Amino acid sequence: MSPDILAPLRAPIASLPGVGPRFSSLLAKLVGGDSVRDLLFHLPIDFLDRRHVTTIAAAQPGAIATLRIDIIRHELPEKKSHPTRVIIGDATGFAEIVLFHPARLPQFPKGAKLLISGKLDLFADRKTMPHPDFVLPVTQEQNFPFIEPVWPLTAGIVPRVFRRAALAALTLLPDLPEWHDSSILKSRKWPGFAESFHLLHAPTETIPDEKPFERLAYDELLARQIAFAVSRSIRRKRPGISLTGDGRLRKSALQKFGFSLTASQLQALREIDTDLAAPQKMLRLLQGDVGSGKTILALLAMLRAVEAGAQAALLAPTEILAKQHFSTIQKYASVPVAFLSGNIKGKARGDILEGLADGAIPLLVGTHAIFQKHVEFQNLALAVIDEQHRFGVDQRLAFAAKGAKTDLLVMTATPIPRSLLLTHWGEMDISRLTEKPAGRKPITTTMHKLADLEKVFAAIARAIARGGRIYWVCPLVSESEFLDATAAIHRHATLREKFGNIVTLAHGQMDPSARDGALKSFQAGIAKILVATTVIEVGVDVPEANVIVIEHAERFGLAQLHQLRGRVGRGAAASFCLLLHDDKLSTTTKKRLSFLKQTEDGFAIADEDFRTRGPGDYLGTKQSGLPGYRLADPEKHEDLLPMARQDAILILQRDPKLESPRGHALKILLNLFDQREALTTVKSG
Ligand code: ADP
Ligand code: MG
Repeated sequence: MSPDILAPLRAPIASLPGVGPRFSSLLAKLVGGDSVRDLLFHLPIDFLDRRHVTTIAAAQPGAIATLRIDIIRHELPEKKSHPTRVIIGDATGFAEIVLFHPARLPQFPKGAKLLISGKLDLFADRKTMPHPDFVLPVTQEQNFPFIEPVWPLTAGIVPRVFRRAALAALTLLPDLPEWHDSSILKSRKWPGFAESFHLLHAPTETIPDEKPFERLAYDELLARQIAFAVSRSIRRKRPGISLTGDGRLRKSALQKFGFSLTASQLQALREIDTDLAAPQKMLRLLQGDVGSGKTILALLAMLRAVEAGAQAALLAPTEILAKQHFSTIQKYASVPVAFLSGNIKGKARGDILEGLADGAIPLLVGTHAIFQKHVEFQNLALAVIDEQHRFGVDQRLAFAAKGAKTDLLVMTATPIPRSLLLTHWGEMDISRLTEKPAGRKPITTTMHKLADLEKVFAAIARAIARGGRIYWVCPLVSESEFLDATAAIHRHATLREKFGNIVTLAHGQMDPSARDGALKSFQAGIAKILVATTVIEVGVDVPEANVIVIEHAERFGLAQLHQLRGRVGRGAAASFCLLLHDDKLSTTTKKRLSFLKQTEDGFAIADEDFRTRGPGDYLGTKQSGLPGYRLADPEKHEDLLPMARQDAILILQRDPKLESPRGHALKILLNLFDQREALTTVKSG
């Protein structure tokens, strides 16, 4: 394969004829890259139909009209600030073109026969077209954009400029070999790669359907899935440690649990055990709702590592959560467990570091502090990361690097929508906990206006009288933890007035020891109402808590509300979730919140959340649309994802080094979508 075949697409936008330096930098900013390829990847979002050529008499004001006209005369303005008028006519009557920029006047020479298209207005009973969008002599009609793509544009770039650049870019499209199986193309009725761009950027006969969009989306998805598949297969080839055990520690933990694992937990554990036993590195995502029993599984996996004579560590995103895990693990593991966070200092810290280095401490639980440089393990075989999307990829890798062959298990309570799983966690193997431990009661979810606060207070008083315990979650005021805290402090004060000193408070701005104190007092049942910001979102496990009130529920995402709701329903008592919302809710918001009343299925809620709010919240980014994807749209092309994943796996099974003719074409595809790492890996075998 000659890599130069893509050279024309790598050329800078500035090299396109008719695109000056000013426009090229604006265009590069708009399309998110400065190459011809980037420009082509900026696809239209709509198409205007200018095919209906009409007459002046028949043209409707208020709509786009395409007219074949004669230029009758020019009416130059008396004042410079006034527009120039060009009187036009056809067999049915007269109209005028209004030009605010006289520079365009030469496009309309007297006596010319032109084809023009633009929005028609009615001004003082006269049909008027201000600044026609397109003008061509009738002799050049074949070049007229009867179907006009609508591109997303920014200030400074008018459609005409983009079109000129796009048409120039199209001429540079090389003739690339087809990388898709002909059967897919046939059954999906997909056009070729270059053809798709022609159809979209310069449609001629018909308004394009979804086919070219799909084809290009599939190209992008397939390139990514091949890269994922390559990285998965490389990992499988890399030596890891084969961890097997005699089951001694596990058995004793299971006895202490006093419950048996759910079918879903057993299935996930089998998958984890297979990975642990295999002599390759594990990289597995364990996905399951709050309370589905992930931590318990993590513990069992960690105990297996210890049975095999190695060490295991669990990393949590917050100190509270880490402590919670620590106490769970201490309760069930019959071997030493250490806790490490930034707050552990001096001799205590020194002792832990020593125990980790000489292997005396087989299990470690902690926060970020556990992957700092001077934390050395004797033999770290398994690393577990909880709530992994809160950690950056670098941190994840730094953690795994603590043990040369460390297996990695990441857990998330955020049910990640299927499309995101495949697009962003695609290099991992996935286990899902789809059922809750037996004995969990359904949670009754209701919605209340904030104006009805007194009624809510009364309901809470009744719940407390029946021995209940209440979480009161305060609104997310802003990005600022400080403002969130203020709201919580305020609510805490009002509730104290009502209920006295059984109300306590926890928020992110508090001194950690005071916050821990509040959580402990709630856990012990001394406090009956815990007012909190979303610090309780993850990890807090108080089975006696049976009511959760969430203020301004409309400000949260569904998945987040669902996670919060999961704080209750863990004990024997009937549980309730009260969603307090703004008095005025839009119908869509009301519908969105109502979804929570219907179901407790975290995966369904995640998919709904994803549909209504976009992926930003899952990925910790504010943008909508799939970051990192330019042609694929998560909603429209969701069905293509599993197909691309399957396709990628098959391709690499048949041709791991991509040496067949199709393999060569696929290398071009990888190149096109910047999957250089995958390319290098494939080449080096
Ligand atoms: P997660 O980490 O997914 O939130 P945990 O592992 O913390 O879930 O489990 C939540 C609660 O359910 C804990 O109190 C745990 O002891 C309990 N639990 C876990 N698995 C089971 C099971 N199979 N049967 C009954 N209770 C379980
Ligand atoms: Mg947990």
